[in-house]
Amino acid sequence: MTDESSRRTPLFYHEDFAGYDFGANHPFRGDRFKRFISELETRFPSVFQSLDIRHPEPAPIELLEKAHTRAYIERVYLLEKRRGFLSVDTQILPGSIDAARLIVGGTVAAAKAAIEEGIALGFGGLHHAGPDYGEGFCIFNDIAVAAKVLLDEGLERVMLIDTDAHQGNGTMDIFYNDPRVLFVSIHQDPATIYPGRGFVGEIGSGDGAGFTVNIPMPMLAGGRLYHRAMEEIVFPLLDAFNPQIIIRYGGSDPLYTDTLTNLGLEMDQLTELTGSIATLARERRTPLADLFLSGYGPYVLEGWLAIIKGTLGVEMELREPEEKRYLADEKMKELEERLDETLERLKYVLEPYWKIF
Ligand SMILES: [Zn+2]
Repeated sequence: MTDESSRRTPLFYHEDFAGYDFGANHPFRGDRFKRFISELETRFPSVFQSLDIRHPEPAPIELLEKAHTRAYIERVYLLEKRRGFLSVDTQILPGSIDAARLIVGGTVAAAKAAIEEGIALGFGGLHHAGPDYGEGFCIFNDIAVAAKVLLDEGLERVMLIDTDAHQGNGTMDIFYNDPRVLFVSIHQDPATIYPGRGFVGEIGSGDGAGFTVNIPMPMLAGGRLYHRAMEEIVFPLLDAFNPQIIIRYGGSDPLYTDTLTNLGLEMDQLTELTGSIATLARERRTPLADLFLSGYGPYVLEGWLAIIKGTLGVEMELREPEEKRYLADEKMKELEERLDETLERLKYVLEPYWKIF
């Protein structure tokens, strides 16, 4: 066996990720990481063995400052002392900060490993934390820190593909003026869900104009609509921007079974989504870091398995939800028309910045 074929894909994981936990009755609990690892190990041993599990170090404060103001970081530490709230849904419990820093460390390490080794997996995507705010279960923005680290190390073009069901407002704000980072978010129509941002017209400003791209999907949008959005917007942009790395992130909340969102992806369509990105990255020889962490309800881990199935391009027999998704033809047609409108408007606002549209 050559070195190439025996090389294992790095997966950055630490058992202390478990400290990233918002308490009983909160939809985000810290046991999901360990549960995922053990699902993978018991149900898909050969996939598990094809991964090289590496333990990250917590990100030092200086790294956090690449994406957040010092005042914000100090505020987070103060809040932890009194179990305070960053926002109505995001309480800082004792241990949260250490775990958050570990997740940031993992994402930075995954991004660097992707550059070195072509592909890396990790647990990340805390995209609702902005320069001086945190919310939506996100304390520090691991994705933004990792992108900043790569830029500081000399990279000039980083592409972020945010497939989480919620729009990545924090990441968007951090890079809104920065043309070195092409931020593309495909998410549930923000008129219908938190964070209420990420409309077509939000395209970046100053030098960064045209480098923020928001694709709001109609509620219940499934694989066919996602496929169109990727083919008509995301992949042509990828070609034109020619990134030196792609960081795709987002967990299982675009699944139709998710309890906090209203999108319509089926299990194999989530696989197709990450698979299409990974295939393109491989063909172009563009490094890919693939990160997941979100998802709510009974199919979170199955969704994560669906994600790595696509990213790694491996066979895995996944559990299908019992309740099937059904949409009447009329409804399908209506969704399709709404997407047509969105994509047309998006091409129109991006056209001054991208010849491809
Ligand atoms: Zn989400």
